[in-house]
Amino acid sequence: RSMSSVTIPPPACMLRPLEVPLRYLFGPGPSNVPPRILAAGSRPIIGHLHPEMYEIMNDIKKGIQYAFQTENNMTIAMSGSGHAAMECAVFNTVEPGESVLIAINGIWGERVAEIAERMGKRLRTGLRTLNKYTTLIPIHKPVLFFLTHGESSAGLCHPVDGIGDICRKHDCLFLVDTVASLGAAPIFMDKQNIDILYSGSQKALNAPPGTAPISFNDRACHKMFNRKTKPVSYLFDMTHLSNYWGCDGKPARVYHHTGPVSGFFALRESLAILAERGLEESWKKHKEVAAYLYRGLEDLGLKLFVPERDLRLPSVTTIAIPEGYDWREMLTYIMKHHHMEMTGGLGPSIGMVMRIGLMGYNCEKTNADMALHALADALKNCKKSKP
Ligand code: PMP
Repeated sequence: RSMSSVTIPPPACMLRPLEVPLRYLFGPGPSNVPPRILAAGSRPIIGHLHPEMYEIMNDIKKGIQYAFQTENNMTIAMSGSGHAAMECAVFNTVEPGESVLIAINGIWGERVAEIAERMGKRLRTGLRTLNKYTTLIPIHKPVLFFLTHGESSAGLCHPVDGIGDICRKHDCLFLVDTVASLGAAPIFMDKQNIDILYSGSQKALNAPPGTAPISFNDRACHKMFNRKTKPVSYLFDMTHLSNYWGCDGKPARVYHHTGPVSGFFALRESLAILAERGLEESWKKHKEVAAYLYRGLEDLGLKLFVPERDLRLPSVTTIAIPEGYDWREMLTYIMKHHHMEMTGGLGPSIGMVMRIGLMGYNCEKTNADMALHALADALKNCKKSKP
């Protein structure tokens, strides 16, 4: 037997064509990607260090500055999903032993607590009012305070005003997660004194998953570029990433890692669509369609999980599980008969809610009607069988 003969045969599955069903992605993300963004992502690849690619990255930077409402120079997109941005924010600004204060209003606070814990100290404070958190800042003197703006597991949109000022007063960086809310609910990074802001590509931006906008202001840069220790991650080290994105003022960009070229094409297109449409228009649309959906849900006799209308996240709506129904059965029914994704809860909200996301391109009253129709059908057909 020759040394070169393979002993593992080609797998049978690889000899069959790829099959991907068409689905309405009305869950908390990813959302459907419009043809224009899909087309941008399928352009021929160029090198990640070609001048045309730098130009595209510079455009992305401008697009993110607009979406975040910031003039921060240190504005880039991560090669990775929202979690990459979460880890980048914490890994670069916190040194071992420093403390982090985390507002936990759903799973995302829990996640960041877990990330911070791997870094050193963390302060987990459980569910409290924001007032309580902000009173903890002068007591614990954390270097970083984290808050999720669009809490997709709870369907909550957390107010942000005023918190940045308190953080600033106590020399603490204010880190905000807008993965689920960017483009759907107003956020003003500079005006709201947010020191670090990140988002994701696959929600209201409607790009494929895999890239994540993030921005650091001067206070955050000062902290992260004056550390005594190197960040634990090489891939997410902002010293390297700031050079790769042309933010460090150096004349040349040098190789650090190979960025997701197609992902950046698609992200650029999604940011272009947001710029053409305008942030205010996008916020207004999400609010209107959400209000329309709330009415329809109430007409079906369903109860919204967040009673305070002003605190609801316009992109992801949480519905309390109706009495006498198994939420898993309803979601499976909707997927099977309507080819539509809605999801259950996540982390602390598992078993408490069902979630409907109508984000960006998907945010239309006609889609809300389809989702309501599917829910009405499930309510008719999934009622727990009588004893
Ligand atoms: N934060 C929030 C608010 C999210 O909704 C999500 C994604 N569901 C993430 C962070 C994590 O993003 P990703 O799944 O892209 O890593």
